[in-house]
Amino acid sequence: MSFESLGLRAELLRAVSEKGYTAPTPIQLQAIPPILEGRDIMGGAQTGTGKTAGFTLPLLERLMGSTKQESGRRPIRALVLTPTRELAAQVAESVQTYGRYLPLKSTVVFGGVSINPQKMKLIKGVDILVATPGRLLDHVGQNSVNLSKVEILVLDEADRMLDMGFIRDIRKVLALLPKQKQTLLFSATFSDEIKQLANDLLRSPALVEVAQRNTTAERITQVVHPVDNKRKRELLSHLIGSNNWKQVLVFTRTKHGANRLSEQLSTDGITAAAIHGNKSQGARTKALADFKSGKVRVLVATDIAARGLDINQLPHVVNYELPNVAEDYVHRIGRTGRAGNEGEAMSLVCVDELALLRDIERLLKREIPKVVIEGYQPDPSIKAEPINRGGRGRQQQPSRKSASPRNGQRPAFKGRSNNQGRSQNRGRQGSQEAR
Ligand code: AMP
Repeated sequence: MSFESLGLRAELLRAVSEKGYTAPTPIQLQAIPPILEGRDIMGGAQTGTGKTAGFTLPLLERLMGSTKQESGRRPIRALVLTPTRELAAQVAESVQTYGRYLPLKSTVVFGGVSINPQKMKLIKGVDILVATPGRLLDHVGQNSVNLSKVEILVLDEADRMLDMGFIRDIRKVLALLPKQKQTLLFSATFSDEIKQLANDLLRSPALVEVAQRNTTAERITQVVHPVDNKRKRELLSHLIGSNNWKQVLVFTRTKHGANRLSEQLSTDGITAAAIHGNKSQGARTKALADFKSGKVRVLVATDIAARGLDINQLPHVVNYELPNVAEDYVHRIGRTGRAGNEGEAMSLVCVDELALLRDIERLLKREIPKVVIEGYQPDPSIKAEPINRGGRGRQQQPSRKSASPRNGQRPAFKGRSNNQGRSQNRGRQGSQEAR
């Protein structure tokens, strides 16, 4: 099956072929035809599957197919909402790239940067607007956008937007949109909250889904390296140095932890930068650019900051600390092995994190192989301590008392857990992040 046979116009095919894509990915094959027919979509797809082109290409085609000659300012005809600034920037870049031979105008708005240049662009008129919800509402408040002519709405990474506490902002935006429109909702996971939103929004949607949800792509090799907490940094430096890794994305649970690790790695002679929500947009963009260009070898990131990062062919992802929420593990390791490339995801796991590891393995429905690195065997006399759940999980109670390694009981690394349920109460800390 080729892009040509999907019914996209020559300008789009030219842009796609210049990107070097030879065939559509599974999500593109499934999503493009119903979107072209004007149907609503409920899309289950993670980043890395090619979903951005999956909705952008038919969106552009549809806008071209119904081009309206209106006098005065061009109305916004397509609105794409994303949870984070980085994802907004990446989607906007895709819209530009795929639409480069079309006479459509697009722009992106997100927080953390001055609002005035965005206003100038909006006032000149755009057909397609990519936005984070908070900044979009700022523009609504300042009358720089009119959403009453939107024909196509895309909610990208809807699960993440809800996790980040954007539901009220989203509902406010929805109230400003025409009732009659095409809605495309993409989400990596389907919680009850997402299903509710989909029920409210979508009219007999086409369901498109690739790779079972909440499962990790086969092409990603996963491994756990058991290690004592105090020796994680040393082990990370050892792994990077001895394997001569050139580009590693490392996850920590907290912003503070990300800063500290990046400083420590620099002290070890490994160039590193941190990316998290407390950094200015300029600092985040620079860290990402330096990482992409190879100027820094290690990018240390928190979950929210890393969401949506599109770094092609990222070979290694390291979970320096396991995430508090098992689903985040899937998102984290989705940074590697993208669009058909091989990837390697390793987790440095100390005894305190065994309950988190079991949550993850339950979600994946399989065990992750454990490999002890010579010289870094965990000290069996060290007892598990409660994890400092930092920013995201501050208000969280551990959801399963029985799973917490307490009372000096040392759970075995291989042990299977028989406790029920998954982590609830996902963090709500992110709402400022994308503003
Ligand atoms: P996404 O899931 O939209 O973030 O896309 C993941 C990566 O796959 C991006 O780097 C895209 O440029 C790339 N990609 C998208 N569609 C294709 C395709 N048909 N063939 C090869 N790579 C693609």
